[in-house]
Amino acid sequence: MRFCTAINCMDGRVQLPVIQYLQKRFNVDFVDSVTEAGPNLILSEARNNNSIQSILSRVNISVEHHGSVGIAVVGHHSCAGNPASRDEQGAHTLNAVQLLRQQYENVEVTGLWVDSHWDVHEVN
Ligand SMILES: [Zn+2]
Repeated sequence: MRFCTAINCMDGRVQLPVIQYLQKRFNVDFVDSVTEAGPNLILSEARNNNSIQSILSRVNISVEHHGSVGIAVVGHHSCAGNPASRDEQGAHTLNAVQLLRQQYENVEVTGLWVDSHWDVHEVN
């Protein structure tokens, strides 16, 4: 069994699009989900350190126990937890990706944007 990890928003509308995208993206059977309201914002702000540690402790389980082959952090259209624009959320997501790459040097990390049609795009 091959796993990857989604650090996704709790929003029900983005669960299936992200899971289906990541199953293909990382060629995995299962997607472990760590959910928050607006995780890209939380991971981009150092003042949220307790929340960041909570996320990382759950990602660690996916990496250490499931051998996760990839980690994705997600931002999306119409997010109640991070109501910023697409451009601003893109900056949050890139900051989050940078933090995760420092933490998990041997796992591929990417950022995702889910648009108003619930289509998934890479954030680079
Ligand atoms: Zn959201």
